Formats: sequence, structure tokens, C-alpha cells
Amino acid sequence: MRDSILVVNAGSSSIKFKLYRIEGADLAPSLSGGMSGIGSTPSLKVTDGSGALLEDRRFEAGEVPDASAAQHHLADWLLHHLGDTTVVAVGHRVVHGGADFAEPVLIDDAVLRRLETFIPLAPLHQLGNLDPIRVLRQRRPDLPQVACFDTSFHRGHPELSDRFALPRFLHDEGVRRYGFHGLSYEYVAGRLREIAPEVASGRVVIAHLGSGASLCALKEGRSQETTMSFTALDGVPMGTRCGALDPGVVLHLIEHRGMTPAEVGHMLYYESGLLGLSGLSNDVRALLASDRPEAALAVAFFCRRVAQAAAALAVTLGGLDAFVFTAGIGENAPEIRRRIIADLSWAGLILSNDANGSGVARLDASGSRAQIWVIPTDEELMIAKHTMRLLDRIASGARA
Ligand code: ADP
Repeated sequence: MRDSILVVNAGSSSIKFKLYRIEGADLAPSLSGGMSGIGSTPSLKVTDGSGALLEDRRFEAGEVPDASAAQHHLADWLLHHLGDTTVVAVGHRVVHGGADFAEPVLIDDAVLRRLETFIPLAPLHQLGNLDPIRVLRQRRPDLPQVACFDTSFHRGHPELSDRFALPRFLHDEGVRRYGFHGLSYEYVAGRLREIAPEVASGRVVIAHLGSGASLCALKEGRSQETTMSFTALDGVPMGTRCGALDPGVVLHLIEHRGMTPAEVGHMLYYESGLLGLSGLSNDVRALLASDRPEAALAVAFFCRRVAQAAAALAVTLGGLDAFVFTAGIGENAPEIRRRIIADLSWAGLILSNDANGSGVARLDASGSRAQIWVIPTDEELMIAKHTMRLLDRIASGARA
């Protein structure tokens, strides 16, 4: 019998999972996969711990019309293929923990009800995150389930970083800067502590640049401020999300263009960012490969905004000891890294052109006033670690 932790990352159009075998204090990935294209072009893909393909199955749209159908297909696949593996707990990525949850939490009915109250704060994600928790609680009420939040890492923010310049009662009602990508920042900060402890305890900016993108300022490994705020729309532009925007534009679209709030929401989440700016693609690879001026503009806009955000966060930190790139773009696009650091050269950051793109983690040239790193993120492993730690704490509490 082998004990494992299952990690679930469920969204509205995809559901991903990763299974980790518990090996003493370590967690070894043994299966990973998921269902994507729910309701349009559904497919189920699973690989084993070494990356070998175990399943690659396409479905008709009608066979997997919604997230709930996808969960059942996935659960059936897992039940048939788990062999001698025993899942001892399930860790879930939950986007919103509101102002309450500064730590991962074991889910019971009261917690689930509380998490449902945050649905209006993240309508696109929260519902999809909670759905599999509910289904699993019905099927396997004995199985411990743990919610790990994208917001928790930012809950220790000073008040200055948590507020909007709006009437005070709105803050009390929950209109505040929550911040996201916390599991990624926590993982990367932990890796930095292992590989460069001398800077990890200092002033660090991490740029999580994926299809969603944000930056975080950390002092002594703790989040001080971040660019996403009340929703995952704020901050730097993203694949299809607009990033920071004059709120007057939203008023204009509703009042003078006659758009409904839902139409505006759709535009800001799905038609803006790199896609909106270029009119071509939300994918940085396609934009870098294009010779169209709109593509060049979108890339230049993205790099400029990321550099500006880094500079603003350095103000919060009172300086900068290290700048870290992570996530799809941050890890894989040397040209984007080059341009962002070039925009920060006034602050004394110098990138080594030899190191950038060579596969090494440390990218600053000698004489750079801050270290520059690229560190791959692993949000699923962070969730698995949190889940294991919480189980251990509960077990030692029960023994005490
Ligand atoms: P998420 O997990 O938020 O879906 P990722 O962190 O996987 O996103 O990042 C996805 C994005 O990373 C893609 O949209 C693409 O623009 C970018 N990306 C991935 N590989 C490369 C690459 N080799 N060069 C440039 N951009 C890349």
C-alpha cells in the first residue's frame, strides 16, 4: 500500500490534478494530468512521474458539457488506475480565502459555507474551485480535504498595501487589495531561501509572468505588496486581461457605449491584455515570432509595465536585493527577461547575456546592483506540502 496526496486545481474550463507519493518527509510526483476544453473540445491527458504519456483521450463536446461531468470522468479514471495507491488527503487550490484565511484549512461544512461567501469576489474561479470539494465530500466524507488559497500569502500585508483610496466603509465590506498567485510566490521564496539564503532574507521582487501575471514585493521572505488586488485583473497586462486601468474607462463603456457589466467583464478578462493590444494572440511566443507592428507594441507594453511595477515595488521595499522571474513567460522567454531588465538598468540591474537563456538560474552580470534569478514555480507541490503539514499537525494534535 502506498500513501499519496492528491492535488486538485479546478477552473471553469479545465481541471488539473497531480498525485504525490509520500516518501518519508518527501513528496514524489507519480501521476499528473487533467481535463481541458470542457464544453468545447474536451480531452483527458495523464502522464506518469517520468512524463510518459498514460492517457490521451478526446471526447465529443456533449460528453463533457460542464465541469461536473469532467470531475466524474476524472474521478472514474483515477479509481481505475490508482492500483495499490491510497489517497490519504486531497489538497485543493482555492483562489479566494477572503480576509479570514491566512493559512490552509481543513474543510468542513462551516469552512465550505464561508468559502462560498467569497464567490462574488472571484466569480470566475471560486465556484469552479469549490465544486469538486463538494462532490468529493458527498462521495468520500471520510477523506480529509484541505483548501490552499492564492490570497493567504498576502494576508500579513501592512494596512497601506491593503487599501484602495475609497470611502472607508468599502474596505470594511471587503473591498480591499487581496492579491493572488500566493502559492507560487511562497514556493519560489522557499526555493530562493534554499539556493541564495543571503538575498532571500532581504528585499526581493518576484515576477510571476504566465497567462496570468503579477509581481510581489517580499521582505525577509514575507509579502509586503503585490500588483493584483481586489480581483486578478489589476496590475500588469496579461494574456487576455487588461491589468491596471483607469476606472473611468469602465464607466465610459457602460454609460456611453451601452455595454452591460457582463460584457465589460468579458472584454476585460478575455479580450484585452496582449490579445487586445496586438489583435493577434495572447501567446508571447506568437508575438515574438510576428513581424507585425501591433505584436511589437504589445510586447513592448508588457515589458514596460512589468518594469514599472518592479520599480514601484522597490519603493515599497526601500531598495532591491534580488529580482526573480517565474511562470511560463518568466521561465521560458529570455527576450522578455532581457527587455524588462533593460528597462531597469537605471536602477543598476545588469543582465548577463551569456547566462540569460543558457539554462542557469542566476542571471545577473558582475557589477549588477541586484541579483537576478529565474526559478521555476510549482504551485501543485506547494499545495501538496501544505496538505501534508496540516495532516501532520492534526495527527500530532490528536496524539497530544
Ligand atoms: P498559466 O499556468 O497561468 O496558464 P503559464 O505559467 O503556464 O500560465 O504560462 C503560459 C504562458 O507562458 C503562455 O501563454 C505563453 O505566452 C508563455 N510561454 C510559454 N512558453 C514560452 C516560451 N518558450 N517563450 C515565450 N513565452 C512562453
